[in-house]
Amino acid sequence: MSMTFDFSGQTAVVSGGTRGIGRAAAEAFLAAGAKVYALYGGDEAAAQAMRDAHAGDGRAAVERLDVSDGEAVKAFWRRLEDGGEAVHVLVNNAGIRHDAILAMMAEDDWRRVLDVNLGGVFHMSKYAVQAMSGARYGRIVNIASPSGKYGFEGQSNYAASKAGIVALTRSLARETARRGITVNAVSPGYIDTDFIGNLAGELAGEYRKTVPLKRFGRADEVAMAILFLASREASYITGGVLEVTGGL
Ligand code: NAD
Repeated sequence: MSMTFDFSGQTAVVSGGTRGIGRAAAEAFLAAGAKVYALYGGDEAAAQAMRDAHAGDGRAAVERLDVSDGEAVKAFWRRLEDGGEAVHVLVNNAGIRHDAILAMMAEDDWRRVLDVNLGGVFHMSKYAVQAMSGARYGRIVNIASPSGKYGFEGQSNYAASKAGIVALTRSLARETARRGITVNAVSPGYIDTDFIGNLAGELAGEYRKTVPLKRFGRADEVAMAILFLASREASYITGGVLEVTGGL
């Protein structure tokens, strides 16, 4: 049996959708027929590359939106609502890390990581749920991390934000179940993106050895898990965490 996802007629909003995992997910949704809002927080060059790559198909909107800015997020969703545009899928993928051991961690690094990673999911999901409730259909997929499950040296801020995302996912899933909205998380392991691109070669080798599949994952492998949870077919899955970790 072969399985393909059909998102034609649907609109997906992907935060952090111009690089890495988010871009792979945005492109997979486009390939599956969706209209996609690929939102980004910085890196104009990556955003322009995404615009250029999809200028022809008319279904990719690439916009800068800082998900930690509640007012800006509200304005984004209000604009869609005013334009009568239904959103079927939200992927909360935007994420940053500012690593340091806790005893040496700057207040700003603690706050910024929580504000973007966890605050961003709060802001985006709040208005998405309001918009999806009317239609009594929606799929929200949040990006977690094994760091939130196991902890990781130097990542107490990041790990706390990702554990928070799982707790938010489970709680929101219970709140929205009766409105036809499912909420799940994907937890990617070591994925070959700019996010871990600055790992020293030797360290990367050490980490790779800890992965049962003995390699880092690819962004498109995570994108397929996101698409599955975002599909109509994943109708009986909510409040779950799908691990895409090579067995970590
Ligand atoms: P990436 O750095 O390439 O992508 C991060 C994206 O988040 C970028 O598109 C960026 O524009 C966006 N972003 C950052 N701050 C933002 C803000 N304030 N508002 C809006 N967008 C913002 O990294 P990636 O590996 O593709 O990471 C994507 C997600 O996957 C992140 O949530 C990350 O925590 C998670 N993750 C990555 C890995 C990995 O190994 N790469 C592992 C586990 C989880």
